[in-house]
Amino acid sequence: MRIFESNTSLGQKQLILQILTIFFLFLISKPTLAADEIIKSEIKNDSQFLNLQLTPTEKTWLKKKHTIRVAVKSGWMPIEFKLESDKHRGLSIDYLSQIGSLFQIDFSVVDYTENIDKEQADIISAVNGSGLKNPNYHILNKPFLSFPFAIYINKDIHKYRRFNTLDDLDGLRVAVFKNGVLTQKIRENYPNIKLVFVDIADEAFDDLKSGIIDAYVGNEMIVDYHITAHRLKFVEKTGLTPFASMISMAVSNDEPELASIMQKGILAIGKNNKDLLDNWRISDSKYDRILSAIFGGIFIIFLFILLRFYRLKQNIKKQNAETQQQIWNQANFDHLTNLPNRHLLQNRLEQAKERADRSQLPIGVLFIDLDNFKKVNDQSGHSVGDKLLIEVAKRISVCIRSGDTTARFGGDEFIVVMSDLKEIFSLENSCQKILSEIEKPFSINGDLFYISASIGVTIYPDDSHNLEELLSYADQAMYEAKKLGRNRFQFFTDSIQVASHKRLSITNDMRKALKEQQFVLYYQPIICLKNSKILKAEALIRWMHPIKGIISPLDFIPLAEESGLINELGKWVFNQSLKDLLLIRENLGSDFQLSINVSPHQFNNPEDLLMWVEKMKEVGVSGNCITVEITEGVLLDPSNQVINTISALRETGMEFSIDDFGTGYSALAYLKRFDIDYVKIDKSFIQNLETNNYDAVLCESIINMAHKLGIKVIAEGIETDIQRSLLIDFSCDYGQGYLFARPQPLVEFLNMQILNSTED
Ligand code: C2E
Ligand code: CA
Ligand code: CA
Repeated sequence: MRIFESNTSLGQKQLILQILTIFFLFLISKPTLAADEIIKSEIKNDSQFLNLQLTPTEKTWLKKKHTIRVAVKSGWMPIEFKLESDKHRGLSIDYLSQIGSLFQIDFSVVDYTENIDKEQADIISAVNGSGLKNPNYHILNKPFLSFPFAIYINKDIHKYRRFNTLDDLDGLRVAVFKNGVLTQKIRENYPNIKLVFVDIADEAFDDLKSGIIDAYVGNEMIVDYHITAHRLKFVEKTGLTPFASMISMAVSNDEPELASIMQKGILAIGKNNKDLLDNWRISDSKYDRILSAIFGGIFIIFLFILLRFYRLKQNIKKQNAETQQQIWNQANFDHLTNLPNRHLLQNRLEQAKERADRSQLPIGVLFIDLDNFKKVNDQSGHSVGDKLLIEVAKRISVCIRSGDTTARFGGDEFIVVMSDLKEIFSLENSCQKILSEIEKPFSINGDLFYISASIGVTIYPDDSHNLEELLSYADQAMYEAKKLGRNRFQFFTDSIQVASHKRLSITNDMRKALKEQQFVLYYQPIICLKNSKILKAEALIRWMHPIKGIISPLDFIPLAEESGLINELGKWVFNQSLKDLLLIRENLGSDFQLSINVSPHQFNNPEDLLMWVEKMKEVGVSGNCITVEITEGVLLDPSNQVINTISALRETGMEFSIDDFGTGYSALAYLKRFDIDYVKIDKSFIQNLETNNYDAVLCESIINMAHKLGIKVIAEGIETDIQRSLLIDFSCDYGQGYLFARPQPLVEFLNMQILNSTED
């Protein structure tokens, strides 16, 4: 019977505790001593027991009695209990099994009930104190277990009060087992203690926990066992009472022999037998070991989960790091060559500068630009161009020390930064190495490609303290290297800077000049040498600079080409000559032809050239009124783009003339392939006609061969009568030169021609 009803949560808690206990006991229990219904055991060490002999009567009695039935309780831990389908266990069972071994008795277990009788059981295995109400049995006077009653409190509630004796519990609420010996003793001796009765220890613990009771007084062995097994950390034993709990066996009144045998057995094993008790006394350390095993397991699982989680996190971290690395790479490296890009170059330069400032050792900056790369790109396609750049990057990298930087600056431009320069000589060495590496043929897709490079070199801090300036000076020096014939390196000098400044200012001026219409076209007649008729003229551009006066195209066309301004300029030249052509034809006849110079650079923007076709249609000029003057470089390995542009223009009836013939490859055969109409022998040959026999022979053979191919020849730069008559002797078709007329503004040109024709 319970005094306080336990609520459901307590019930659940008990269930959990029960499960934990089962698990716990399963872990700690020795191999079971009890057979299913029979208690059997081997004594491991006989000598520990007193050698108490059975009398012959007792022996005889035992022989007659086959099995001895023992009534055992099921819920009295650790005295005797049964967990679910498990066998009975506990201290009393251990005692029985030891006695069984001593005297060769088989005990069979029956479930204890309060009204059990002699027909059901011979022995009641454990009786608490003297409280046995069953008249069929009598308690053996020597108990097998005896423990003091101890005082237990909830130390979380009673933090400062200590209850060492029952006196300290005066007036307090104290839980005890109902009907126990203790109840009576306390009632008699400590009447002020308010007793609260419980049926099982767990109830007392629940009440301690909730603070309903102030203390619990119970069998030290049993309570300690519960505290440890259930890990009741809040329960603390604060003292002992003068009272003890005795646990004895009870034997049927009808079997005095059995009582004697059992009593002898108990005496032989001894009260509170240490070994047996130790089996049931769970030391904290043992418990801790088990618990730590359990928690160890949990910990390992937890560790495992943690590890997985950590790995997952690491993976995510790794992925993040990888994406960040990718982003960083994209921001700092050139995707094609994997070299540092402009951005990273800037960092590297700054680092090198800091180092140089400390070490006082200069830095060399190499500005490398490939020669003829554009041609490869145009002619063989971008994929070949890309592969070439990758190979070039590798070759440059091979030439420099590992600590130095090679960066791709853009297009076909590379920068090398060499720090800690001990001597300038090493810079020259590196340049030479790079040049000769790049000069070697490149094998791409089975084809061989030949290119070269031009390198400009600057030195920090000699040339500039400013990194941007240092790069721009290296660029200027590179330009100078190109001007000096390419495939070479050039150190930056002051004069380069002056020239460079000049270039820059001219380029800027040119833009302005285009807007302000400072350009004009001059015209120089082209004479038919056979009949002296003039039906052709070449348009030659002039820059009427408001301050500098007339500027020769030789001074600004190369700059226009370099800066890209040549496209604008070319457009203007074409439009202007088209306008002028209308005027010329009005005055000099509708079969008059104009020659227009087209820079090779203009073929990079074929759309502009193709626009000509539309323009001519608009104005109503047919293509055969125009001759396009190009240099033979345009026709050497021309890209499809160039071929298509030329054919589109040719379809309108335009004629094509090769300018400056003789200065380049001077191969005639391929000209036929492009259906070229004229070659213009370069004036340098004409000017040497009288003095240099070789040039005369060359001119004559050019003329002969051209004629054989159906190509007409124009000689330019004729200044003397002798030159003219020689060319007439060689059967040259047309002549152009100061001898006939200098290039003139349109109006003067027209006046002169009109005058000439009236003179005729
Ligand atoms: P070019 O096409 O070879 O033009 C012929 C050059 O020889 C012209 O120089 C002309 O004035 C010059 N010349 C003509 N007869 C004689 C002579 O008897 N003796 C000497 N010493 N020279 C003579 P200019 O006008 O200074 O042009 C130079 C170059 O500029 C041209 O050489 C041409 O390559 C380029 N150029 C001129 N106008 C244009 C243009 O509108 N567009 C393009 N892309 N280039 C142009
Ligand atoms: Ca020309
Ligand atoms: Ca020429």
